[in-house]
Amino acid sequence: MIALTTLIPLCVPFERRKEAARGGATFNGEQKCWMAPRDKLDALLPFVPYRYRPDREAPYIRPWMVPQALWGFNLRAFLAPEDWNRIRKDAYARSGSRCRVCGGRGPQWPVEADEGWAYDDERRIQTLKGVISLCPDCHGVRHWGKTMTEDRQDAALAWMAEVNG
Ligand SMILES: [Zn+2]
Repeated sequence: MIALTTLIPLCVPFERRKEAARGGATFNGEQKCWMAPRDKLDALLPFVPYRYRPDREAPYIRPWMVPQALWGFNLRAFLAPEDWNRIRKDAYARSGSRCRVCGGRGPQWPVEADEGWAYDDERRIQTLKGVISLCPDCHGVRHWGKTMTEDRQDAALAWMAEVNG
């Protein structure tokens, strides 16, 4: 249970900072993050990480199952570097370089780009649904197979349990 006075990190794009301030968020310069107490989140819903959204339920993060034929492939491999960079930097900017799930940031790379795909097994078509920012910890949960090959599954499991409560 998180106390009402605990400040929640928000995903505020730079160009929407005034909107966040009007909603009751304040900027924490030390953490370089817009934050708000829990009782103000209703007015700040577009900026609230999934983990803290009053209109969402757990699980907020879970492993993302990928058909075996697609293992090892990603959008970056199919795009020119400048196109991939534009897409991933747009995802980072839309969340104020915060994780869309937990609001956190990684120590080395603050956020990473996570591709959301829908799979049509009958027609064998995959469709890109969107690209969002995730912190390295949440990203490790999403890509569970890769996390296992790197022997990081214990930490990823602990993180998944904490985020999902
Ligand atoms: Zn995260």
